[in-house]
Amino acid sequence: MTGGAGFIGFHLVRRLLAEGHRVDVLDNFQTGTRENLSHDTGVIGRLIEQNVADPIPGVYDGIFHLACPASPVHYQAAPLETFRTAVWGTWQVMESCRQTGAKAVIASTSEVYGNPLVHPQTEEYFGNVNPVGIRSCYDEGKRGGETVAMDYRRIHGVDARIVRIFNTYGPRMLFNDGRVVSNFCHQALLGNPITVYGDGTQTRSFCFVTDMVDGLIRAMEAEHFVSPVNLGNPVEYQVVELAKMVLSLSSSSSSILFKPLPSDDPSRRKPDITRARTLLGWEPRIPVEEGLLQTIVEFRQRLGKYVG
Ligand code: NAD
Ligand code: UDP
Repeated sequence: MTGGAGFIGFHLVRRLLAEGHRVDVLDNFQTGTRENLSHDTGVIGRLIEQNVADPIPGVYDGIFHLACPASPVHYQAAPLETFRTAVWGTWQVMESCRQTGAKAVIASTSEVYGNPLVHPQTEEYFGNVNPVGIRSCYDEGKRGGETVAMDYRRIHGVDARIVRIFNTYGPRMLFNDGRVVSNFCHQALLGNPITVYGDGTQTRSFCFVTDMVDGLIRAMEAEHFVSPVNLGNPVEYQVVELAKMVLSLSSSSSSILFKPLPSDDPSRRKPDITRARTLLGWEPRIPVEEGLLQTIVEFRQRLGKYVG
């Protein structure tokens, strides 16, 4: 697994180890942590500490390709590096698959739809992406990664399976990664103001990480796969609704502080998951209130470690 020391990577490795697989992890710890490599379900195989954009050693049955910073704060901190990771990292994964016969699940993103003009987003929609904005390194990088994967499939017959992941959240998100769920939970538990960007009417749909892990594993195991496949929770919330939910679930008395909307922030996003339902028999099971509660409980425990 590339990116196995990151947020989704942690949960996916944990589940694969529990199922008895051997899992090697490639990561350069740009946003991942060594702590995320310790699992209660088993021990990882080899740790390959390198950039995914360099040639990948080893022979595998399958590669989950997750390596890439995912939060806007992180991917905008080093945009050229992000673009290189998204495009050239996928190229290296495809090259490894071509040489060894491995299949690959490629973690793409709902960001390929940009600020969508079609709602909800189906896989057929080509998107509405600004190629020269501050999100472009990630959005266009991931689109480029999809192109590389599809051309390796067409030219070299590589079994590349593209999944477009929509906002995913859960325990062990980094406190400082700037994403909306981690920011809101962290702020609510510390009693700090909840920072809602813009007027908070922009929408997102939030998938609990264990549901996402289930979808990723089904994508790897499916006999018949048609790229790309949306993976996400189709229940849509306004960001300000999410803020109120977090406040209530954490019994926090924090206020809501409205701040300027970052540029190119998509105004709405909701996956059409018909293809995932049909091909993978997959749909999210954990309602947002339940997932948020689990996240808040874990955040509280982790904060307690530092504060108390
Ligand atoms: P994350 O930042 O927690 O994890 C990414 C991991 O990749 C980290 O361990 C990081 O150190 C590693 N990494 C980054 N650049 C690397 C490089 N050049 N070489 C080697 N390792 C590198 O992010 P995440 O939330 O776990 O996301 C995992 C994947 O899913 C990413 O590809 C992301 O684009 C995609 N995705 C995530 C979400 C989400 O909501 N979490 C949404 C859409 C897509
Ligand atoms: N957001 C917010 N406050 C925050 C962090 C994010 O209002 O403290 C908003 C952000 O502007 C966006 C939504 O929440 O509209 C989701 O942001 P996130 O960075 O989690 O993911 P993405 O924009 O990539 O979907």
